[in-house]
Amino acid sequence: MRKPVVAIVGRPNVGKSTIFNRLVGERISIVEDKPGVTRDRVYAQAEWLTVLFDLIDTGGISMGDEPLLDLVRQQAEIAIDEADVIIFLLNGREGITSADEAVAKILFKSKKPVVLGVNKIDNPEMRNEIYEYYALGFGEPYPISGAHGLGLGDLLDDVVKHFPSFDETDEDDETIHFSLIGRPNVGKSSLVNALLNEERVIVSDIEGTTRDAVDTRLDRDGQSYVIIDTAGMRKKGKVYEATEKYSVLRALKAIERSDVVLVLIDAETGIREQDKRIAGYAHDAGRAVIIVVNKWDTVDSNEKAMKSFEENIRTHFQFLDYAPIVFLSAKTKKRIHTLLPEIRMASDNHAKRVPTNVLNDVIMDAIALNPTTTFKGKRLKILYATQVAVKPPSFVIFVNDPELLHFSYKRFLENKIREAFGFVGTPINLFARKRQ
Ligand code: GDP
Ligand code: GDP
Repeated sequence: MRKPVVAIVGRPNVGKSTIFNRLVGERISIVEDKPGVTRDRVYAQAEWLTVLFDLIDTGGISMGDEPLLDLVRQQAEIAIDEADVIIFLLNGREGITSADEAVAKILFKSKKPVVLGVNKIDNPEMRNEIYEYYALGFGEPYPISGAHGLGLGDLLDDVVKHFPSFDETDEDDETIHFSLIGRPNVGKSSLVNALLNEERVIVSDIEGTTRDAVDTRLDRDGQSYVIIDTAGMRKKGKVYEATEKYSVLRALKAIERSDVVLVLIDAETGIREQDKRIAGYAHDAGRAVIIVVNKWDTVDSNEKAMKSFEENIRTHFQFLDYAPIVFLSAKTKKRIHTLLPEIRMASDNHAKRVPTNVLNDVIMDAIALNPTTTFKGKRLKILYATQVAVKPPSFVIFVNDPELLHFSYKRFLENKIREAFGFVGTPINLFARKRQ
């Protein structure tokens, strides 16, 4: 389901990242635990009074060495493109500067809900000095102190009031939501267009609640699909489109709403470091994954080339050993028709529930084949297994002592579960619990 998105904008040094970190607190999803995002997070989940939302620190999306005005303008545009509600942050000790006015003008034109935060109001006496900020035309300015965590509650109360209510009619369980991620220029937009132009596919746009969010719905062979975020992919040519932080932001946002993620690789340029990082986000989020090697028309295509490319992928993406690989060309449309059935298969597996008795038979057969070993004089005893969740399928095995479950044995059991139930395309989780 789509969560509301809030972006913080404002000049450098007004306190955006301070506020961001305060609002996000410790609720950092594992996705962010990756190089490149940890040090300087720009996107994370936050919560206010049980309402979950995603928060963007536009200040963290660095554009290089632009003049101040260009920088704040671009950040304001990102906020308008990405967010449902914008927190416009000002420095309460400096008054309104010309850069603030420039931001205000852009935000005003966008008609997006804007909530004003006047930061660095560290003590109550200073609260009387914030009236000049009414002049910006966004209503009541909220005096806050990011450093001391003051006033944020009132600000957030107002932010939450502006959240759109999302139309859930298309969010039924039967519809498969998928997204395409990958470096700039791997062919994401081209592939979306190729899919939309496929003969047997019926296309309809779903108007989102915000101007920019237009998901596309496809129907084929009685199955509905929604491609997430094609609007963002279609809308090109903005300066910030090319920055890596921005692509990461887009990718995280799209992954979050997906059942299946297509990780695109460019056959022409081969695998790059950035590809691995991007693929890691999908894996960490527990989504079903398909690796799509696009631009296969540029490669002297034969069995051997395909095999060798496949081996290369398996070496570089060991954490995605469950992901099927599809070689295709968005340009010539070669093998495009195989993609939707593959997505459907991965999605089915991602949501699959297996019967407990069959699961236990599989586990017991596995143990018979490869008995558990002893560790420090104690032998691991597996008593019982059960599936506790789907998307991705997650299993708990009850044991005498979880410490005795060696990594390699856990891996062995996971593989046996995979073999038995065919979880192609989806990660699975296996946890050991001590039996009470
Ligand atoms: P950003 O560039 O907008 O992300 O700003 P930062 O969050 O990096 O903050 C810039 C500076 O302002 C840092 O030195 C912060 O410690 C300081 N700062 C942030 N919030 C407050 C506040 O509420 N009061 C005071 N006095 N300083 C703050
Ligand atoms: P995006 O940035 O990932 O959305 O990539 P685009 O879809 O804009 O494609 C980037 C470039 O790659 C464009 O010039 C496309 O024409 C080209 N391209 C996309 N798919 C293919 C393909 O299958 N084969 C070839 N040869 N070029 C492609």
